[in-house]
Amino acid sequence: MPKLSASIKTKLPKVGTTIFTKMSALATQEKALNLSQGFPDFDCSPKLTELVTKAMNSGRNQYAPMPGLLNLREAIAKKTEDLYTGIYHPETEITVTAGATQAIFTAILATVAAEDEVILFTPAYDCYEPAIDLIGAKTVHIELKGPEYRIDWDNVKKVINQRTKMIIINTPHNPTGTIMTAQDMQMLEKLLHGSDILVLSDEVYEHIIFDGYDHQSVARFPKLAERSFIISSFGKTYHTTGWKIGYCLAPAELMKEFRKVHQYNVFSVHTPSQQAYAEYLSTSNDHQELRKFYQQKRNLFRNAIKDSRFQLGETAGSYFQLLDYSKISEEKDVDFAVRLTKEHKIASIPTSVFYSKRVEGKVLRFCFAKKDATLLQAAEIINSI
Ligand code: PMP
Ligand code: GLN
Repeated sequence: MPKLSASIKTKLPKVGTTIFTKMSALATQEKALNLSQGFPDFDCSPKLTELVTKAMNSGRNQYAPMPGLLNLREAIAKKTEDLYTGIYHPETEITVTAGATQAIFTAILATVAAEDEVILFTPAYDCYEPAIDLIGAKTVHIELKGPEYRIDWDNVKKVINQRTKMIIINTPHNPTGTIMTAQDMQMLEKLLHGSDILVLSDEVYEHIIFDGYDHQSVARFPKLAERSFIISSFGKTYHTTGWKIGYCLAPAELMKEFRKVHQYNVFSVHTPSQQAYAEYLSTSNDHQELRKFYQQKRNLFRNAIKDSRFQLGETAGSYFQLLDYSKISEEKDVDFAVRLTKEHKIASIPTSVFYSKRVEGKVLRFCFAKKDATLLQAAEIINSI
């Protein structure tokens, strides 16, 4: 192939291939247990695959309407009202997206401009900042200090200025497993009162929350909801990460801007999957069972490794467990994670990748969305390190 002109300049100089791709590929190459990238090693309900097959066999194979199938948007509206009392109009305030990833990208692209600042708490999931960078806007990082990783609202107050356009929150949190409380939400509401600052609330782990806590969706707080994009993903709730279907909720004015980008970004998403979810949501209450399902897995995993040389972080939500290895090795976390994959045959995610600057922390993230047998096998390896 002839070489492209050297004048092509990367728009994302800080970005390489994501750690999730790298660690999953390494796990496959090394035949290691893969507790790195967050996805279940068990299948979704057979009812869901039946429904998607039925949708395909009955000719639901052409474009869905741009904002998503109306019956699915109606089911999402009902669920949001039932759970969080938030009222979202299916016609104008709900859009079905190609996973949460596309919803996040679209919401940022639709509302943030080059001169704006966006506040991001680190460690942070990796897909927010590249969208901000592509726009040419500035990310203002606020570091959450472990092992609690709580937001200090005084710090937030200090960095807010006239250029602040958006604050991104994520509860339950990837990678730390912390959750925001009702008080956190009230603090945020108070802080933003009287400003034009928008909120992007990533709630993809909304149903994976433990120990009797309730998920504090922005949809419960009308004064916050009126300035917010709420983003969720069916992939996490229904063990279908490969279907890549999520959704965005926002007041009509914001949703209008969101859809201007969405219609050119993707136009609409996979029709048969939407039809399957629409039917499934109207009959199943799997989301209510999910916390029990994953709490058992969290407890099994934690209990099986409690006597290991790793120190365990708290996991109040999400399907991630942080393990501190500072008593075991001086190695940098990326090197240690690669060595564990190659030598001990277990793959994890080094948490330094969730920060914008160099961090010295010696913490790995393990995903416990796995069969009990996989978790017990993983524990045996972890106990031997
Ligand atoms: N946000 C967070 C916090 C995530 O962990 C993930 C991925 N697991 C996403 C967004 C993206 O979700 P999706 O796979 O639906 O694009
Ligand atoms: N969200 C998943 C994780 O945190 C990864 C999804 C992806 O690979 N983009 O592991």
